[in-house]
Order: sequence, then C-alpha cells, then structure tokens
Amino acid sequence: MNENSDLRINDKWIVSNRGKKNTVDPEKPYAWLIEKERTVSGKIEDFAIIFLTNRECPYHCLMCDLWKNTTDQSVRVGAIPDQIEWALNQMSDVKHLKLYNSGSFFDTSAIPYKDYERIASIVSEFETVIVESHPRLINEKCLHFRDLLKPELQVAMGLETVNLEILQKLNKRMTLDHFKNAVSFLTQNKILARAFVLLRPPFLSESEGVFWAERSIDYAFSIGVECCTVIPVRGGNGAMDQLLEKGQFSPPDIHSLETVLEYGLGLNAGRVFVDVWDLGTFSDCDKCFDKRTKRLIEMNLSQKITGREKCRCDSD
Ligand code: SF4
Ligand SMILES: [Zn+2]
Repeated sequence: MNENSDLRINDKWIVSNRGKKNTVDPEKPYAWLIEKERTVSGKIEDFAIIFLTNRECPYHCLMCDLWKNTTDQSVRVGAIPDQIEWALNQMSDVKHLKLYNSGSFFDTSAIPYKDYERIASIVSEFETVIVESHPRLINEKCLHFRDLLKPELQVAMGLETVNLEILQKLNKRMTLDHFKNAVSFLTQNKILARAFVLLRPPFLSESEGVFWAERSIDYAFSIGVECCTVIPVRGGNGAMDQLLEKGQFSPPDIHSLETVLEYGLGLNAGRVFVDVWDLGTFSDCDKCFDKRTKRLIEMNLSQKITGREKCRCDSD
C-alpha cells in the first residue's frame, strides 16, 4: 500500500471527513433482529440483537461507522430499558440476547449506570446476554452488572489487529496490554470474552491483511478469548473513503475471508465467526458469490471447514 506520511490520522481528521448522522429516535432502538449462532455448548440457537440508540462513542476509531446511528447527547435515564422492552415486544422469544450500543455498554454516558438494575430485570429470562465494550472501559461496573444479571454475561471487545503500527493508526487509543488486561479481568471474573478482529484494515495489502487477521486470532485465543469474530473492513464512514481514494485502503476479498475463517477453525481453540453482513462489497464474481456466502454461513454455524468453491475468480 502507498505510504501515508502526508496524513495525520487523529480525531479531528476522522470526524471532519464524516457525513451526516442518520435521524434516530432516542426512545427506540435503531434496529433489532434475530440471527442464528452456534453457542459455546455447540447448539445452534436464535440470538436476538438489539441495536440501542444512545450517545455517540467517545472514541473515534478510523474504521468505525457506528456513530451514524447515535445521538449527540446522552439519552434520558430510563430510555435504554424502555428501548429494550419495546424491542423484545416486537420479537419472538429466544434464549440469547446481544445488546449492542454502537459503543461501549460500560460507557455510563451511553448507558446510564442507574439503568443497570432495570435492564437486568427486563432481560432476566434470557440464558445469555452479550454486550460490547472498549477494553479500557472494562472495570468494576461490569461486575456490578454481572451481579445484577440472572443470565450469563459475555463481553465482546474490538481487538482489531495485533499489528502495532496499524493499531496505533486506527486511533482506538488502545494498546495490546489494555486488551489483555481487560480479557484477564473478565476471565478471572468468569465472564467470557469475545474479540472482534479486522480483516484488512487500511495500509495493508491483501496478503498482509490475511496474515495479521490470523495473528490477531492467535493472540486473542492465547490470552483467553473464547470467541473471535472476523470483520472484513469496509469504507463508507468518510475517513475510510478518503483512504480508498488515496490508495491506502482497499476492502478485502471474500476469498480472504474464507482463508481466515478456515485458519481460525483449524486452530480448534474456540469459536470463530465471520461477519456475513453485506458481503457483496467483497466480491465481484456473480458466479460464485452466493455459494461462497452460503459456505461462510454454514461454517459459522457448524464450526467445521467445508470444501471451498472453485471458480474462475480464484486467480484474480
Ligand atoms: S470504540 Fe468501537 S464504537 Fe467506539 S469508535 Fe471505536 S470501533 Fe467505534
Ligand atoms: Zn467466482
């Protein structure tokens, strides 16, 4: 990839490249859905995901577009439990729940501390509750929330990449020690940790993208993470589009996503998933795209490597 010596990636530059936020209602989640996932015990079960509307994350990571569906100000105390209650009324009963808030659940400007008790009471019928957080916000508040919860708590955190130079450029304000300490804190307190791993962040070639995603999975499992989800990096947040134009970012190819999933599953070290949302961005071959997508979904669910589709695009 081209050098980026002329570019100063910082909060100001990242935010200045943003477009407008979407209009969101602070009283309603901005999305909700049910998807299948393989559980730790190996069953394929339904997971409800509620995408809560709340105040924007204070971090400004280079690749993040989650700010699009956030508010500028904190939502009122009571709004988050109301949103959860409302969304659950729209969905059929399932056993597992992901509460994703476009930031960190333990950021009290996003999810008020005073709301923990009511949230815990609303979700008491679930078996598992999964929230997301920046590793630097993992602390005693997690334990307080865990203690209020009847379901088992799991926490998902962005490891992103173990390439130190790239991690720094992502502006996440996180070191590997922050991540490792957060995982230790969670595991010592019997909370399962999940890691998000990026496939081909900016400034990497396709093969470097695969290499660093694989090393990131290695690292995550080596420090006690139970589950890794690989996220192919996409443009669309302004800053990433600038990098795309400058030749400093290209989205990964679907073949690379297959390679990394095969690698992760082959480790037999924990669950490995790939994010299959909007995979069309990562393929320009109509002939095999549907089959590759189907294969990735199947491997996510079975956690087994299946035969890869052969196609004329393999050598592209
Ligand atoms: S910490 Fe997460 S939500 Fe916040 S900006 Fe970074 S990637 Fe986005
Ligand atoms: Zn093809």
